Amino acid sequence: MEKRKVAILGSTGSIGTQALDVIRQHRDLFEVELISANRSLDLLCSQALEFDAANVVICDESLYPELNERLKHSDSKVFAGIDSLCELITSPRVDIVLGAMVGFSGLRPTLAALEAGKIVALANKETLVAAGQIVTSCMRKNNAVILPVDSEHSAIFQCLLAAQGNALSRIHLTASGGPFRCWTKDRIMKAKASEALKHPNWNMGAKVTIDSATMMNKGFELIEACWLFDVEPDMVNVLVHPESVIHSMVEFEDGAVIAQLASPDMREPIGFALSFPERLSVGNKRLDFANLSGLHFEAPDTERFPNLELAKSAFRRGGNIPCALNAANEVAVKAFLEDRISFYGITDLIEHCINGVAFVANPSLDDIFATHENCMRMAQELI
Ligand code: MN
Repeated sequence: MEKRKVAILGSTGSIGTQALDVIRQHRDLFEVELISANRSLDLLCSQALEFDAANVVICDESLYPELNERLKHSDSKVFAGIDSLCELITSPRVDIVLGAMVGFSGLRPTLAALEAGKIVALANKETLVAAGQIVTSCMRKNNAVILPVDSEHSAIFQCLLAAQGNALSRIHLTASGGPFRCWTKDRIMKAKASEALKHPNWNMGAKVTIDSATMMNKGFELIEACWLFDVEPDMVNVLVHPESVIHSMVEFEDGAVIAQLASPDMREPIGFALSFPERLSVGNKRLDFANLSGLHFEAPDTERFPNLELAKSAFRRGGNIPCALNAANEVAVKAFLEDRISFYGITDLIEHCINGVAFVANPSLDDIFATHENCMRMAQELI
């Protein structure tokens, strides 16, 4: 593999730090062209020094003077703000952009990278939920590429490499079921954020861990799969698989099912996206089949976890409704993390917002930003 120059958007988050760990193991194959963070100054500084990052961007502009001061003896160039970020990632020096920002904030830089025809390793699923039509048509128009980083979508992508041009008939999208899989509805009703943050299998950031507990994450991933693999929502079968060993499966016309398996460690899908089509060692545990206690499957319980159906119906309604779903969810998850609303309060809040927003059938990018702002405001007022 020829050396690749990587830009990591959100380098201090869970995906960003794990990506840098993969790069740390293969310094001869990757050059860190850019790293960015929202506010995590200390970690961003130490990453800049360790990886000798050419460009370092802090999105919160108020932290620029301190970052600049702390990196003044390094070779890194220091920038602030999302506009600088969007401009820097279009540089011909960038080969691959890892989109690992959290939530809607990743939309603008993702579009900037796609407009510049970059390879985008996309972990930021919210951009596809909020603006899937705009993002995928921008990709096609500019001959850009999106490589999935989300473990399920990386698995589907890997399974499809064996399709030899045959159309898939179904996707089996696996879900761990989260920390409340075996809890009664009464108990879930009183669940605290600290309990929802204890994910059984995956080590992830707070936002996606809460989304995982409510199963909104799987709803988002269903939408993500529809955009990435050009399938209808009915072709995506969500399957609870508590061991998280099978990361997803693809079924063909003849009933054959191809699955992708690995131990649950995000460095595997991150590494595959960064080095595609080559595979690198990433330091994860190997599966020990003889000692697996079993692989279990069950249908998702939409009574205890209504957000999955909520996301699916929002996607079916189309237009700006998935964008409203995402915006309301961002506010609701934050409020739940602050113990300001209950677990099912998240669902109520989202329902109010997607029913209250003005429907736009074919939203422009401006419509998407307006919907996002309006729904955030609506959700905050409801809280
Ligand atoms: Mn996932």
